[in-house]
Amino acid sequence: MPTETFEYQVEARQLLQLMIHSVYSHKDVFLRELVSNASDALDKLRLAALRDDAPDADTSDLHIEIDVDKDARTLTVRDNGIGMSYDEVGRLIGTIANSGTAEFLRELREAKDAGGAEGLIGQFGVGFYSGFMAADEMTLVTRRAGETQGTRWSSHGEGTYTLETVDEAPQGTAVTLHLKPADPENQLHDYTAPWKIREIVKRYSDFITWPIRMVPEQREGDDTTPEPETLNSMKALWARSRDEVSDDEYHELYKHISHDWRAPLETVRFQAEGTFEYQALLFLPEHASHDLFTQGHQRGLQLYVKRVLIMDDCEALLPPYLRFVKGVVDAQDLSLNVSREILQQDRHIRMIQRRLTKKILSAVKDMKANDAERYATFWREFGAVLKEGLITDTENREAICAVATFAGTHGDDRPTTLQEYVERMKDGQDDIYFITGESRQSIENSPHMEAFRAKDIEVLLLTDPVDEVWVDAVGEFQGKRLRSVAKGEIDLGTDAGKSDGEKEKQTEEYAGLLGWMKEHLDEDVKDVRLSSRLTVSPACVVSDTGDLTPALENMYRAMGQ
Ligand code: ADP
Ligand code: MG
Repeated sequence: MPTETFEYQVEARQLLQLMIHSVYSHKDVFLRELVSNASDALDKLRLAALRDDAPDADTSDLHIEIDVDKDARTLTVRDNGIGMSYDEVGRLIGTIANSGTAEFLRELREAKDAGGAEGLIGQFGVGFYSGFMAADEMTLVTRRAGETQGTRWSSHGEGTYTLETVDEAPQGTAVTLHLKPADPENQLHDYTAPWKIREIVKRYSDFITWPIRMVPEQREGDDTTPEPETLNSMKALWARSRDEVSDDEYHELYKHISHDWRAPLETVRFQAEGTFEYQALLFLPEHASHDLFTQGHQRGLQLYVKRVLIMDDCEALLPPYLRFVKGVVDAQDLSLNVSREILQQDRHIRMIQRRLTKKILSAVKDMKANDAERYATFWREFGAVLKEGLITDTENREAICAVATFAGTHGDDRPTTLQEYVERMKDGQDDIYFITGESRQSIENSPHMEAFRAKDIEVLLLTDPVDEVWVDAVGEFQGKRLRSVAKGEIDLGTDAGKSDGEKEKQTEEYAGLLGWMKEHLDEDVKDVRLSSRLTVSPACVVSDTGDLTPALENMYRAMGQ
């Protein structure tokens, strides 16, 4: 097949422009990205082999190798992992498939000033393309495990890339950077210097569980071929003692497994000893990915068995409402080729799930007690997901209630817990009142609020779609009913001055009007009643206690039900 030339898609081109012209001073992260990809490729191959999916693959001595050539000014990162087919190279390298990258670009566009953009690039690294921070040309030669033909990809990063098939290619992937000309002023960016490579690998990739090797330079006058040295300790972070691991190291692991470019908000680690031993290292991200509420969202933790990754996204380890949590569980006594279906049923996995859930909720509780700002970030990003747990996880309902906060009409604009609401309740108030809707503004000005405002009774302002559901499922808190201000009859005692006789008389007086209205609105309403809930507006629409609220009706309609 002849060499074919392809154009980058628009987003990829924008990203490449940023990389090529980057003056960012921490370009070193490109190596972390290439090593991270190589490590993923080795993981994928071993997983395939465990599942007997890669019969013709060579899985002996899986490793990563870094070669530098001072004279040619090239740096190559090679792995003998899963590799890519011709089509895959086009699909995976030529486009921006990674949702994290797409999200990054969105943020980059929002970071209007160039300074902000530089900062973001530095934190991120943007995967494969970050090589163009250090190189003016990149080539990649790859052969998919089990296939006979390889593929060569090459690009200067400006607009186009080429693809061709090659006959001679070792299994796996080799990425070669043709480094930008040396800067005599700045030795710091000399990526042909072995000390520099050692330093970067140690800093960003030490925990990678595959050996990362480098062949040292041949000494002048010495004919023996130098032995390759292994640059990383390969020690899993969760297997090292806590005070031996720095926050930075944890953060690098988080970035590697989550493909997030920011540091996590919180790190939770613990080990279980006894009959079923395991270690867990969990991270709460700082930002919700935009697909958190869609089917495609990658959920689940990495599951290792004695340091061997056996599943990349094990959903069984966490309940769905904690699907945003990232991390690793390493268990001692599981079979290496255990299937997803078996894990769902496994008693030990269920035990781990219960334990992890409690640990995470208690970490959130600590955060709430000790670091208001971080808690606020957490709740803004993940509150809507966590509230699903109020519906599905009755065992932990109390623990979730303890960390859940809501906007309310009282409490000086600070979100309130249900507990705080109850403590502020007025004498004689029996129920917890709430209103649901799409935005705070729309519900704050709702006619349903009038009587509550007049009587200075606090109302919770709930604006997440899930709110409609959990309030029903939970029903009450500490014996106080959760009641919608928009449903059913509500007696706030505004009629207290009037005797029953007076009310009856009033209803009789208005009977003609009410009857007439009912007749004309017959298609749209069940009943027309006199009400004491309004102070200014002449009328409002009220649902029956069991009816769907308008927002929920919209939600179900949107879901096609
Ligand atoms: P990400 O790693 O976040 O998915 P990258 O830009 O780093 O994004 O890589 C894009 C994709 O290219 C990867 O998801 C992977 O499928 C493929 N890829 C990159 N490097 C390798 C490699 N060394 N071996 C196999 N596939 C690779
Ligand atoms: Mg990557």
